[in-house]
Amino acid sequence: MKSISEKNINELKDLIVHTQKPLIITHYNPDGDAMGSSLAFYHYLVKKGKEPIIITPNDYPDFLHWLPGNDKVIVYKRNSGTVLNAIKEADAIFALDFNDPARTEGLEKYLAEAPGKKVLIDHHPEPEDFADIVISDTQYSSTAEMIYHVIESLGDLDLIDNVIAECLYTGIMTDTGSFNYNSSNPYTYIVVSKLIDLGINKDKIHGNIYDNYSSDRMRLLGYCLNKKMEIFPEYHTAFIAITKKELKDFNFAPGDSEGFVNYPLSIKGIRFTAIFIEKDKQVKISFRSKGEFPANKFAEDHFNGGGHKNASGGYSNDSYEDTLKKFRELLPKYINELKDGM
Ligand code: 5GP
Ligand code: MN
Repeated sequence: MKSISEKNINELKDLIVHTQKPLIITHYNPDGDAMGSSLAFYHYLVKKGKEPIIITPNDYPDFLHWLPGNDKVIVYKRNSGTVLNAIKEADAIFALDFNDPARTEGLEKYLAEAPGKKVLIDHHPEPEDFADIVISDTQYSSTAEMIYHVIESLGDLDLIDNVIAECLYTGIMTDTGSFNYNSSNPYTYIVVSKLIDLGINKDKIHGNIYDNYSSDRMRLLGYCLNKKMEIFPEYHTAFIAITKKELKDFNFAPGDSEGFVNYPLSIKGIRFTAIFIEKDKQVKISFRSKGEFPANKFAEDHFNGGGHKNASGGYSNDSYEDTLKKFRELLPKYINELKDGM
């Protein structure tokens, strides 16, 4: 595990001592790591005697609403004036779990104009050059694990209590698919053992996240796997695609399709999967891969996206049908890379 540079830590320490108006922001469609790391850092700053503002670009799934501090989160889509004002007034802006201001989908312009000092803490590759203090390392399972390491490096481990530990564990658990991927670094387990030592109930957290779905979501999953999955054994690839109408038929709520993209990866021989979800103006896409196939490069090269090697996403402005056609037509070009390592 790389250590965080002394320069970064000293600058961060100084900023935390002096900030009067800290603001924490994460990416659009926040996931468990985005919310877990942001709320953990929120509680840490409160313990440092600060009054941080925590914002998200848009709403996030119900199964994250139990997180301690959820009631403090200000959602830009519902409180745009308050959020824009807070960004303008902040003297320190902590950008967590994203590597490009464009990932806020609408706040990038305001972040660029904001006078506050910007800090990036993130585990995605190749961060855009937008922050004054950049703590970026892809070796961590999650931004939550990085937050633990940052707090440790700041000499404040004693401030991590049960509440912060619950938030951090949520981020690590969700970004590793419950320790299924991105979880081969021993440091992850050192952190987890410390969090469990603090008295968190890991089984309760798991249940809060994964056993909290609606019956509609379960039926939508069944429908997708039964009727909407296409398999291409020759390309070791499978995908699921859902139309707007189908989402409506199953009373779709944010977060309902979370995890669907992983299911086809458990088919023997499949090492690349995608899910296409038709939205009002675009098609949102998630990609997953096993082994060396770079899902992030694929997303970046063809679908305006990026992410991690094995978990990425993007979008298409083409129609639903044209987007699927484009994907099907791309596969033969990747036959060698997709075959490798099988
Ligand atoms: P998910 O499929 O869970 O929404 O996203 C998986 C990963 O893909 C995220 O952690 C993020 O790194 C990346 N990702 C998802 N959507 C986008 C996107 O539209 N643009 C970029 N650059 N990355 C994305
Ligand atoms: Mn993350």
